[in-house]
Amino acid sequence: MRGKTIVARSGDPRVAGNRLTIDLAALVSNYRLLSKKSGAAKTAAVVKADAYGLGAGQVTPALSKAGCRHFFVATAQEGVVLRPLVFGAEIFVLNGCTNEAECAVMAEAHLIPVMQSREAIWLWAGFWSARGGRRPCAVMVDTGMNRLGLTVAEAIRFADENAREHTVTALLVMSHLACADEPAHPMNVQQLESFHAVALAFGDIESSIANSSGIFLGPDYHLDMTRPGIALYGGEPVTGAENPMQPVATFETRILQIRHARKGQTVSYGATCTLERDTVIAVAGAGYADGYPRSLSGSGVRLRDVAKPGGSGFVSGQIAPILGRVTMDMTMFDITDIPHGQVNTGDWIELFGPNIALDDAARSGGTVAYEMLTGCGRRAAKRYVESGHSA
Ligand SMILES: *Cc1c(COP(=O)(O)O)cnc(C)c1O
Repeated sequence: MRGKTIVARSGDPRVAGNRLTIDLAALVSNYRLLSKKSGAAKTAAVVKADAYGLGAGQVTPALSKAGCRHFFVATAQEGVVLRPLVFGAEIFVLNGCTNEAECAVMAEAHLIPVMQSREAIWLWAGFWSARGGRRPCAVMVDTGMNRLGLTVAEAIRFADENAREHTVTALLVMSHLACADEPAHPMNVQQLESFHAVALAFGDIESSIANSSGIFLGPDYHLDMTRPGIALYGGEPVTGAENPMQPVATFETRILQIRHARKGQTVSYGATCTLERDTVIAVAGAGYADGYPRSLSGSGVRLRDVAKPGGSGFVSGQIAPILGRVTMDMTMFDITDIPHGQVNTGDWIELFGPNIALDDAARSGGTVAYEMLTGCGRRAAKRYVESGHSA
């Protein structure tokens, strides 16, 4: 927090059990780095799920001020919330449209639906032909995710058809990579090649395939527009490589009580943690209802694929491992090794941030930075900081 000024708040940290600090200067610096890495391509920002839990209301204007003109959300509802924040910018709705009501909302807010199927295209075209107009859309092509999108064959057929009949105005044709965080994965090249065939069929229309990780796969993947999300918020774009992004979010929870327990006693539900020594326990006010995953439990929760199970907190300059299971509203941390008196009731303990990397915290819970971030804003008081000198 040294050299940072608080520019906005939501919630009262004195009464909320936990606190989320969002560094807007780090966010903007991450945007600039991704933009530079994207070369000549436009750099959009993915701000779905309330900007990955960090608050689209602050995140989006900050990115807009940094020069971002293209935003992606998941639903029309998210788009409506975003519209007044970035007046004039393009807002794409990734989940497309499935009914007339959605079309009407998107028309009203000037949102650009990303067409996920031929049915969606007919729906959008029909909506506008009934009103005597035509509005832009984007087209998603599935090149290997089996999530949303026209198949490659459907997309190529549609490109030809649309060139003749001009059913809709397609502004952007896009696809999404399944394994972009693993640079050596053969899916990356396969998907890019399939997508090239589609982009060629669409002719002059702009194309986009890279999410955060895709940007780091190199210039072949940048095309006309890149669409980073997680890396803007400090998540690591390349699995196993050093993270070039600055941490943006710091998640802290308040210590509610310090307890002294004896060797041989157990901690938390299921009594899965038996103390091997007399232990000083900090009981902190965040649990899985706060978006702190139960899979971070120190013991007693089976995980599929974690090298070293169990998360930690960071308090008074030291790591404090989780004891036993994470509960709904509380988690217990071992502070025995921290000199007596240094940690007190009311102190904040960091769950992730500058001292516990977001991705490391996620890994110890067998999850990903995306899930940690989208969960942690639920009950927290938020404060937004920028670089500068606090008064
Ligand atoms: C969420 C999403 C992104 C952003 O992905 P990150 O991995 O967070 O960079 C980009 N494109 C699509 C289609 C998405 O759904």
